Amino acid sequence: MHFTDLGLAEPLLRAVREQGYDIPTPIQVQAIPAVLKGGDLLAGAQTGTGKTAGFVLPMLQRLMAQPQKKDARGRVAIRALILTPTRELAAQVEESVRTYGKHVPLTSMVMFGGVGMQPQIDRLRKGVDILVATPGRLLDHHGQRTLDLSHVEIFVLDEADRMLDMGFVHDIKKVLAIVPAKKQSLLFSATFSDEIKALADKLLNQPALIEVARRNQTADTIAQKVHPVGRERKKELLAHLIKSGDWHQVLVFTRMKHGANRLTDYLNDNGITAMAIHGNKSQTARTKALADFKRGELQVLVATDIAARGIDIDQLPHVVNFELPNVPEDYVHRIGRTGRAGAQGEAISLACVDEDIFLRDIERLIKRSIPREVVPGFEPPAGEKAEPIVLGRMTIGIGGTQRNGGGGGGDRRGARPAGARPGNGGGGAPRRDGGGGGRAGAGRAPAYKR
Ligand code: AMP
Repeated sequence: MHFTDLGLAEPLLRAVREQGYDIPTPIQVQAIPAVLKGGDLLAGAQTGTGKTAGFVLPMLQRLMAQPQKKDARGRVAIRALILTPTRELAAQVEESVRTYGKHVPLTSMVMFGGVGMQPQIDRLRKGVDILVATPGRLLDHHGQRTLDLSHVEIFVLDEADRMLDMGFVHDIKKVLAIVPAKKQSLLFSATFSDEIKALADKLLNQPALIEVARRNQTADTIAQKVHPVGRERKKELLAHLIKSGDWHQVLVFTRMKHGANRLTDYLNDNGITAMAIHGNKSQTARTKALADFKRGELQVLVATDIAARGIDIDQLPHVVNFELPNVPEDYVHRIGRTGRAGAQGEAISLACVDEDIFLRDIERLIKRSIPREVVPGFEPPAGEKAEPIVLGRMTIGIGGTQRNGGGGGGDRRGARPAGARPGNGGGGAPRRDGGGGGRAGAGRAPAYKR
């Protein structure tokens, strides 16, 4: 199967060729013809599967087949709206729109919060065909009447499950009430919880169903390894691995933002260029860190799970879990940043004795055991005993979950943001999918800050 077999027009095929793509990925093979037909689509696909081109290419083709429209003020009307959960993902998707639409006379714009409204208002005034936005800022503009969505013909919800995780359900509903009822709607989600199904029922009309690479599966192109190490020597080991392996473009995950900052300082002090991206950083700082990292000018990017959402860097060679995530699904998301679209990648986890319970949960989830390899000179100290892990107001570890400063916890893995409902399903692990448990609703005011 080649791109030429999918019914795409020459200007789009040219852009694809210029990107160096030879063959379409499985999601593209299915999504492109389905979207070209004009029907709705429900697609199960994670970042890294090539899903963006899967919806952007046919969207561009459908838009270019029709003349541009003018809105009531005589501006080029917005005919396609793509909603994403994070600023980073919005920026990347819009970059893809520009890349794939290079030879097509359509305009696009990205819109997210954390930056000034006025430049966005100025850009909107000029008119735009395709708008990529995060929900909050989109609604701000709508509230100020600087935005007209009444001509939207194609509506995409990208990473819908993450949007719900981040507490955007009401915002999404508000957007749905604003856009025209008659439109082509595409919903992309890595998981299908009851909440996602309910959203799909509301939004989609007899959708084509596509599912590639089930969730909680780790790609075979990713080599996974655990380096057991003493609690106090993780930083040293990481610096050693980076230096001895001459690693560049290393994405490192920590659980908490303070940890991300401390680690970044340590690496910089040891001659390794590193920056942290997390929710406390300004949008400008996050964008700069990501751009430097992509250009290869920054060796290490240290991120928390929430900050890392939507980061897409071609063929990232190394992902390191400096700390294992307490939510096992985050492991799958984290290591999905490497080995993308067929490239080989390596995912390394530095695990100390405190994290044995997390490692067990992860291995249960991915249904395979991850090989352990002790790095000579970094053997875990004999007799080191597991200690509980403090996550903001929660303590997780041996002996149960505790709310620090009062209150008690349920089972040992049951750390939940305050106010979240208990996860569904057995096991008691915090879950994001299904019934709004786990971190659902935590996006805007997470109890354990990341
Ligand atoms: P996505 O899942 O949309 O985030 O895409 C993941 C990565 O795969 C992006 O960096 C794309 O540039 C790349 N990609 C998308 N389609 C293809 C393809 N057909 N062949 C090779 N790489 C691709």
